[in-house]
Amino acid sequence: KKVADRYLKREVLGEGTYGVVYKAIDTQTGQTVAIKKIRLGKQKEGVNFTALREIKLLKELKDPNIIELIDAFPHKGNLHLVFEFMETDLEAVIRDRNIFLSPGDIKSYLQMTLKGLAVCHKKWVLHRDMKPNNLLIGSNGQLKLADFGLARIFGSPDRRFTHQVFARWYRAPELLFGTKQYGAGVDVWAAACIFAELLLRRPFLQGSSDIDQLGKIFAAFGTPSPAQWPDMVYLPDYVEYQHVPAPPLRSLFPMASDDALDLLSKMFTYDPNARISVQQALEHRYVSREALPTVPEKLPRPA
Ligand code: ADP
Repeated sequence: KKVADRYLKREVLGEGTYGVVYKAIDTQTGQTVAIKKIRLGKQKEGVNFTALREIKLLKELKDPNIIELIDAFPHKGNLHLVFEFMETDLEAVIRDRNIFLSPGDIKSYLQMTLKGLAVCHKKWVLHRDMKPNNLLIGSNGQLKLADFGLARIFGSPDRRFTHQVFARWYRAPELLFGTKQYGAGVDVWAAACIFAELLLRRPFLQGSSDIDQLGKIFAAFGTPSPAQWPDMVYLPDYVEYQHVPAPPLRSLFPMASDDALDLLSKMFTYDPNARISVQQALEHRYVSREALPTVPEKLPRPA
């Protein structure tokens, strides 16, 4: 079946946050693509126009570490987003017990993640939903950020459904305290969680509810003091927590290098205004010095 006279629909790849994702062939180029069908619902007509305008901006975000939005069009009441097809994602790599990740591999995956983020942050676009299965990996080993800006365009994904609960593990403390004026720092926190997950080979902060998520964060880094994070007490959902001291970060990441730990601690800074930026993280000595990142073609991937 053809969609918009151009795309030859193949199998369903999966059900995502916003709708079904299909594999398809672009008959104009012969390229394999992934089409994300987004239910627009029956709300205000205006939503569609806003969405389409925002999507035009995403189409202009072209970078080796950002998934390319090839085409976008409405069709039968759904919005169709056409992306380049990607073989696997970082979650599959992290979970694969047959894969050994060397320090260079970890650095390479982190660097590609930060490079993609840096391009978007430069254009004032936030991701807001960073997690390992949104970091897609192409046949050449390149890692590309997916679902950029979709959270802002279509609203935060509905997390009542079980397949979405994992996104909680990557949420910054200011979001868990209900801030409405968040910034690029939320993506840095999520990238830190992904960095930690690459080192540990399991999700680092696995909260079972938003409250439990904060508990997991406090257990890892100690409860934040107002001196550490002055604006905290003014956040909408702020409540005082019983003081918990921070264990040495080294005890949580016994295998990490000193430089890796230093960068990790700067990305996991409580106060979003004091948290390292993506650009600063890219310039940190962990990324710029020591062992070189593995070239993408040589990165281990699931069989
Ligand atoms: P979620 O919203 O839960 O992150 P997505 O909507 O991004 O999920 O994707 C749903 C499914 O489609 C996933 O299994 C994902 O692997 C697959 N998928 C999404 N985008 C692509 C792509 N560009 N290439 C290949 N598979 C994709």
